[in-house]
Amino acid sequence: MAEQHIDLFIIGGGINGCGIAADSAGRGLSVVLCEQDDLANYTSSNSSKLIHGGLRYLENYEFRLVKEALIERDVLLKIAPHLVHPLRFVMPHNRHARPAWMIRLGLYLYDHLNPKQSLAKSSAYKLNANPNNPLQARFKKAFEYSDAKVDDARLVVANALQAKKKGAQILTRHKVIHAIRQQDYWQITVENQFDQTQQQFYAKALVNAAGPWVDRIVQDLNLQTTHHIRLVKGSHIVVPKLYEGNQAYILQNTDKRVIFVIPYCGQFSLIGTTDVDYNAEPANASISPEEQDYLCQAVCHYFTRTITPQDIIWSYAGVRPLQSDEHGDPKKVTRDYTLEVNDVTGKLPLLSVFGGKITTYRKLSEHALLKLGVYFPAMGPAWTDSDPLPGSDFKDYQSFRLALRQTYPWLHTTMLNRLSMAYGTRCYDLLKNVNSVKDLGLHFGADLYEREVKFLLKTEWAKTSDDIIWRRSKLGLFLSASEQTNLQTWLDNQ
Ligand SMILES: Cc1cc2nc3c(=O)[nH]c(=O)nc-3n(C[C@H](O)[C@H](O)[C@H](O)COP(=O)(O)OP(=O)(O)OC[C@H]3O[C@@H](n4cnc5c(N)ncnc54)[C@H](O)[C@@H]3O)c2cc1C
Repeated sequence: MAEQHIDLFIIGGGINGCGIAADSAGRGLSVVLCEQDDLANYTSSNSSKLIHGGLRYLENYEFRLVKEALIERDVLLKIAPHLVHPLRFVMPHNRHARPAWMIRLGLYLYDHLNPKQSLAKSSAYKLNANPNNPLQARFKKAFEYSDAKVDDARLVVANALQAKKKGAQILTRHKVIHAIRQQDYWQITVENQFDQTQQQFYAKALVNAAGPWVDRIVQDLNLQTTHHIRLVKGSHIVVPKLYEGNQAYILQNTDKRVIFVIPYCGQFSLIGTTDVDYNAEPANASISPEEQDYLCQAVCHYFTRTITPQDIIWSYAGVRPLQSDEHGDPKKVTRDYTLEVNDVTGKLPLLSVFGGKITTYRKLSEHALLKLGVYFPAMGPAWTDSDPLPGSDFKDYQSFRLALRQTYPWLHTTMLNRLSMAYGTRCYDLLKNVNSVKDLGLHFGADLYEREVKFLLKTEWAKTSDDIIWRRSKLGLFLSASEQTNLQTWLDNQ
């Protein structure tokens, strides 16, 4: 069995595991990250795809979390401008849900909790002043505020790439099946999920960033912890686009939940999310018919266009690994995170991550490294707030896109937009020596060609058709079932 000695071993290739891998490798630690499936296979690709402070958490007095998230929103807009883009939200005023003074107060705090915020501040306006208003006429007034949207799965991959660039080893389709403290090292056994071969690692510290599985790993290792997680399922639906324009909507539902309606992949609207306690296997989460109805009804209550479950083109569900607290109501459980360290006489720490948000992954990683610093005194300082993530080494997104257009004038605009937002300046590697559509190779459907597929296999740990069409891209929305099968057959023959 192969063996390897390292400083830090990380379980979990979601946003938190990959964020910690990038940060720690950049500080000079030798790092291995192990993911049992694909990067971002679970919660980190099934989010609402927002980099946001979380306006509604103000109602639960979560000022620390909202402030940190608002500051992080600005940091991510700076270090990942091809993946994170400003998004303006419209909130139609529904006086039965919350009074106007409460919304104004909330938005005032939202605008000012990060005094240096770069995005436009909130405002109020009359809905009938907009001739393209898609909402029902009974909603007269609206509030507007800024947040940002992200390609969640690609943000995970960008962090894995950053980690690799700094020397970390990223193993996907490798499951941690055993970990035990020996005299001077954690002994960790991992199993290749394709051929069941095993490999052993000896690490000075272990990070448990297994998201919904974090408790299970703690139990398997026979460790005591004071924190636990509560699993809460959230589901989204995708329907043909409900309205023109780049703005998103935040709808206040009668049960005090909020529903987002977000422009998605050019032709669609993304609608979510629900909050339902979940006790089954996290990998099997899916939307229920009740959740579909709930989301459709929320839309019909506000928009002139009506939708029914028959309009749903795609849906997905994710399981939030929330910190377990006293609240009975899932929507009130904190979205904040806790890092718990467990060691033996000052050695061999296990750091477990409980809770969190995509938005705060970078700060969470810094906090994790602060805690691990005790065990690695020679480790370098924090660095991730200013170094661009791979693909983001340009000044502003529009000039970068223009330069790309000039280099590849033959590239169809839809494809140019998709590639520039997915890969940033890594497009130049993807399209190296490509001078026409013909040079892109085999065509799999929509704007997916052999050149991109090979790039993903070679540089981004993609292995299956699902990795390519649902996580590295969202081309699954555009490829027919037979095109998807053809892609998998082609991959099987490589
Ligand atoms: C519906 C929904 C909407 C959300 N919307 C937002 C949003 O808009 N903005 C925001 O900031 N946050 C949002 N979140 C929260 C955010 O998505 C999560 O906090 C975050 O993705 C959790 O990341 P993670 O790395 O902790 O977990 P995960 O992404 O689940 O990663 C954990 C990984 O560990 C791996 N693993 C487990 N056991 C093993 C093992 N034994 N060996 C190897 N690997 C293992 C799993 O396969 C998994 O990939 C949302 C969450 C949900 C569910």
